[in-house]
Amino acid sequence: MPIRILSNEIASQIAAGEVVERPASVVKELLENALDAGARSIAIQIENAGRTLIELGDDGEGISEAELVLAVTRHATSKLRNAADLFNISTLGFRGEALASIGSISKMTITSRTGTESQGARVVVEGGRPGKVQQVAAPLGTLVRVEDLFYNVPARLKFLKTDGTEQRNIDAYVTRYALAYPMVRIVLSHDGREAFQTSGSGDRRATLAALYDANVARRMLEVNADFGEIKVEGFVSPTTDTKGNRNGLVFFVNGRWVQDAALAAALMQAYHTLLMVGRYPLATLFITLPPGQVDVNVHPAKAEVRFENPQEIFAAVQRAVKRALLAHTPVPGLQVGAGWAEGLSATGFGFEASRQPSEADQQFHPPASGIGDGHQIESHLTETVQSSLPGMPLLRWVGQIGNTFLVAEGPDGLYLIDQHAAHERVLFEKMMEQQANARIEAQQLLEAVVVTLHPTAARLLEEQIPILGLLGFEVELFGPNAFKVLAMPSALLGSDPSQALQVLVEDFEEDEAPLMAQVEARIIGRVCKRAAIKAGQVLSQPEQQALIHDLESCKSPRTCPHGRPTMIHISLDLLERQFGRRGAF
Ligand code: ADP
Ligand code: MG
Repeated sequence: MPIRILSNEIASQIAAGEVVERPASVVKELLENALDAGARSIAIQIENAGRTLIELGDDGEGISEAELVLAVTRHATSKLRNAADLFNISTLGFRGEALASIGSISKMTITSRTGTESQGARVVVEGGRPGKVQQVAAPLGTLVRVEDLFYNVPARLKFLKTDGTEQRNIDAYVTRYALAYPMVRIVLSHDGREAFQTSGSGDRRATLAALYDANVARRMLEVNADFGEIKVEGFVSPTTDTKGNRNGLVFFVNGRWVQDAALAAALMQAYHTLLMVGRYPLATLFITLPPGQVDVNVHPAKAEVRFENPQEIFAAVQRAVKRALLAHTPVPGLQVGAGWAEGLSATGFGFEASRQPSEADQQFHPPASGIGDGHQIESHLTETVQSSLPGMPLLRWVGQIGNTFLVAEGPDGLYLIDQHAAHERVLFEKMMEQQANARIEAQQLLEAVVVTLHPTAARLLEEQIPILGLLGFEVELFGPNAFKVLAMPSALLGSDPSQALQVLVEDFEEDEAPLMAQVEARIIGRVCKRAAIKAGQVLSQPEQQALIHDLESCKSPRTCPHGRPTMIHISLDLLERQFGRRGAF
């Protein structure tokens, strides 16, 4: 084929592909434009997950009639004048590409009025070609309507995910930007249903509740560190609120949302040893530095940046987060006396709703010390766990230490049992067995419990109501973002329904089609982890004995469903050697 210069139309579609990957990218670009225009109030309407309509209205400075066509022309921007400006950018936009790109792959209508004009103006762009500018009555500001996105790029349409996923992507951008710009009022609705709104009062913590669920939002720790030119602000989760993936890590650099693996690594460093392997904290951090020290012109969607002094930035993030964590380190043993026994129900163990699972507890309850050399015991443990049969011997209950470990005697020495891990295993096997035998046993609640979730979570859960049924939860939609829990798996009776639903949502987030058997096992594992009794909970003697007994009847009693040991065995032989009775010099 001969070499030809591509037509304008194809060239702009190719360029658009870099900027507009999915409906959420349109939302992001329009949001950035509105924020750059100094908007105080932004309203976003989405229909069909953005496939048919994305509309964003702002009360910013507007675009004059004379410049309207220019605004939708490629490489036309009011934000850069010369090449030097490119290295000192303080606006979110600068490439002059977004509107042109969006206009080339949709039917876009822009209506705008500036403060100095009495009349507004409107232009319609279809497939990249702007029509005639018309005068219309319009409020101050700009309204961009993007209809039939990708109507002329069927390949893109094919790659879109389910409506739920596309909506979640949109929500993720809007909620994050809302948190970054607390002084701007932002309202988002999907198909006429309000999904999210902020007041614009400047209160970031209030916005947090829209980003996370209300309880997590309350527990988030504030980060506020000033290192001169570099500032790090925002929120990070305590070590008890974690996720199984990195999706909860959000970074803004100079008001711009960026994805940066190195920043995430710096943050994780601050949590070093405080989290279990495979768990990640939640964090939204706002990093401010002089614009000249960060290159934002790295990526067409402006999602990546390059720092002039990366080490300095990473160190600042790490120090800022560490400070926040240290200031809030939980006090060991605080939970003692939390009264687990009161929560004990007829069908099983109770549940202490106020406390998250005990990854952190491990840190603050060092394993029983003082019995010889810790290393020796540990290596002995590995040996025992690996070489022993899957079952466990009958044990005689001896007592409990630190309200965390049960002490028992077996045919060959001493057994220390982690009460949380053990109970997790017991619950897990109970539920898995019921699941294998057709259905998980559900128990009607005496009183239905209403659980309100963050709108994104709510939509996700709503889509999955049928699978909830299979898991023993009877859940009904109860008003916007609210659910009524009528029944729960009987193994979990007494646990907090809202926490249980939260775990389910977390799981659905990670999976597009969670209706498969192994996913059910994973979900059950997670639910059990939340529902299991905690380290630090006081147990009565019969409760302790019942737990040991239940563990004995498990198929794999030696590990919790997540692979941690439920028990440590110290053999008589080891004890004798430690006491110098045998084998020692
Ligand atoms: P960029 O934001 O990189 O400049 P865009 O294509 O997104 O490029 O926008 C082009 C220009 O249109 C902007 O530079 C700005 O002058 C104008 N503009 C776009 N959206 C708005 C808005 N919501 N309010 C005021 N002006 C806008
Ligand atoms: Mg822009």
